[in-house]
Amino acid sequence: MEMRLEKVSDSVYANMEGKTGGNVGVILLKYGAVAVDAQYPGSAKAFREAIEGLTDRGVTHLLLTHYHGDHVFGSQVFEDCEIVGHRLLRERMEHLLGEDWAPGNLEKMLENLRQRSPERAWLYEGLRIVLPTKTFEERFILGDGEITVEMIHTGGHTAGSSIVYIPEERVLFAGDLLFAKTFPWAGDESADPDKWIEAFEMIMEMDVERIIPGHGPLSDKAEVEKHLSFFKAVREEMKRLIEEGATMEEAVKHDGYPPFYEAKTPERRENSLRHWYRFWSRKK
Ligand SMILES: [Zn+2]
Repeated sequence: MEMRLEKVSDSVYANMEGKTGGNVGVILLKYGAVAVDAQYPGSAKAFREAIEGLTDRGVTHLLLTHYHGDHVFGSQVFEDCEIVGHRLLRERMEHLLGEDWAPGNLEKMLENLRQRSPERAWLYEGLRIVLPTKTFEERFILGDGEITVEMIHTGGHTAGSSIVYIPEERVLFAGDLLFAKTFPWAGDESADPDKWIEAFEMIMEMDVERIIPGHGPLSDKAEVEKHLSFFKAVREEMKRLIEEGATMEEAVKHDGYPPFYEAKTPERRENSLRHWYRFWSRKK
């Protein structure tokens, strides 16, 4: 496979086709390239080749926005680089290595994926879980004197989620905080919709023109604003339902939420709403 990297700004390129995993991108610094997210082993190889077609200075870093497989499973292709993720991302990956990603279980998961969509089997071929080599708490900053790359922890989509900001070019990688033009996956057990809303509010205050979402096409603040108002409206409505004693299934079936994008599958929307119900029930 060949991966096309589309120019987003002077130093930033991205692939937002979404056919082989989450969106990925790269920031070209004077001393080398900084990759953001890695998809799966098969597509990560094509991603790396595409980066090396843009620069002969090599890849120095891979930044991981969160631990989900469609963003981190390709990390093995960047094993010679510094791999950076939030401390909670690394802890979550370490935990999964003893659970869903333990040798037998990982094989089973891959077998299921292969059977469900054999045409995508090449993506997972030879998968090995590779952990971040560097973690951080609030911010991780790189730069070459002209271009700064700021990785900022936000939480929200997952506890260890981060965004990547290039202030000089007013570009932001939002990771899976932003599912552009579609209903988000918000049912991760560590997803925190309050922090997610705070992250949207922070992005709205930032000097940003172009936003590379975790999934979906190139976006801007108008798209973030749209998600922000939907999240806030659902929070208000769901808290009211919980206050009135609605059950989880009543809250999921409720038709009083504002209209929003359709989800890739009905389960994605329902499981996201179930998670929010549990989250705000605990918080009551
Ligand atoms: Zn995700």
